[in-house]
Amino acid sequence: MTPEEFRAHGKRVVDWIADYLTRVESYPVRSPSRPGEVRAALPGHPPEHGEPFDAVLADLEHTILPGVTHWQHPSFFAYFPCSSSGPGILGDLLSAGLGVQGMVWATSPACTELETVVVDWLAELLGLPTGFRTDSAGGGVIQDSASSASLVALLAALHRASGGKIATEGITGRYTVYVSSQTHSSLEKAGRIVGIGSNNVRVVEADPDTLAMDPAQLRALIGADVAAGAVPAMVCATVGTTSTTAIDPVAALGEVCREYGAWLHVDAAYAGVAAVCPELRWINEGVHEYADSYVTNPHKWLLTNFDCTVLWLADREPMIDALAILPEYLRNSATESGEVIDYRDWQVPLGRRFRALKLWSVLRWYGAEGLRAHIRRGVALAAEFADLVRADADFALLEHHPLGLVCFRPRWPGLSDADAGAATMAVLERLNDSGELYLSHTKVRGEVWLRLAIGGPATERGHVLDALAAIRRFTRAVRDGRS
Ligand code: PLP
Repeated sequence: MTPEEFRAHGKRVVDWIADYLTRVESYPVRSPSRPGEVRAALPGHPPEHGEPFDAVLADLEHTILPGVTHWQHPSFFAYFPCSSSGPGILGDLLSAGLGVQGMVWATSPACTELETVVVDWLAELLGLPTGFRTDSAGGGVIQDSASSASLVALLAALHRASGGKIATEGITGRYTVYVSSQTHSSLEKAGRIVGIGSNNVRVVEADPDTLAMDPAQLRALIGADVAAGAVPAMVCATVGTTSTTAIDPVAALGEVCREYGAWLHVDAAYAGVAAVCPELRWINEGVHEYADSYVTNPHKWLLTNFDCTVLWLADREPMIDALAILPEYLRNSATESGEVIDYRDWQVPLGRRFRALKLWSVLRWYGAEGLRAHIRRGVALAAEFADLVRADADFALLEHHPLGLVCFRPRWPGLSDADAGAATMAVLERLNDSGELYLSHTKVRGEVWLRLAIGGPATERGHVLDALAAIRRFTRAVRDGRS
């Protein structure tokens, strides 16, 4: 494709995306595609001869789109949002256009230096500790996902806990990691990847009301493990759990970490960006004093296309010591001068995309006030939805709902927990099959709850009210069907 051909097709692709975003509401939110349907509609073998790009666009429209779940649909309320935006898309396009692979500073200085600037900007916007800034002992880095970031934090924690031995000798003792029953599964996965195993990812009970990790239980569990010869390497506190946005008491957990010399990692994958609003910074209470590392995903709620996770560390050294290997083919004078950052030592892969461009585009386009307005709108819509659910005797509301997620369920008088759970799941399936909206679910204290997460830039009050109307309608339908 020549640059001129690219220009012509590129304009059409941008038009296509703009049209898609304009008409996204006309599609069923969750794809109705059956397993294997998209694959069966595609050729089993690659083309021998090149095809016109128009043919790709035609297939996108007719074959791919029916198999797409529309995450940018304003009635997408499932999981957590994966919010995209015009500036985010354009920043990603510019990154693709430049085609940079910024594994070390020397392979594209701007890729590294813009990243340093935007992660420092974001730390400032979120009111995070100045010790996370690159001009201190700490620093931030963009990663593909919170899972990767937590894995890197764990590698750094193990490095520190072992006095650097793990990097050379592997795991020789028993190292433990502490999570709560509500912690994201990526922490257990990280435990498996580093080789300590799931059994050494110790699960601390959560408070039955708040679903936050109980510091007293943490202290008891670590104490018992230490007495049995374990080395507590890391505690993961979550600010905004996946299931219900419960917020762990970071300061109290941090105290326990200090007592035992454990690394405190804070997983704020969804909720962290809410701190762009000063009135929501309470979520990070204790982070300044205690956090060794902190992760949040601008790709969830900060209008930055997937993938864009930021990991900050209070001290970058254990991470770099754990990960830095300098083979001959990567040697260069800039690295050897010690004057530059090579972010390859801050992540698992070597290669890196120029992700800073999309975050930079978003931060510049919206500015701090635009980002605050986006978060505040989501929180206010969630609060209004929660008020309506609370006032409706047919539904139970799970308190608390501090941010954009509301958990609720229909009440099923006279049904056992198991039957009530099945009935709630039947409502969920009907809602999602309707294509009008998309919700997901969770289980809390053995009960099935529906999750409605607000965060897409196109979601308006009308979409939330329509969602409630549909929820009431399908709940009645399931109730009538059972009677
Ligand atoms: N941590 C929390 C609290 C999450 O809610 C999620 C995903 O929803 C993750 C980690 C995993 O995020 P990622 O998909 O970026 O790995």
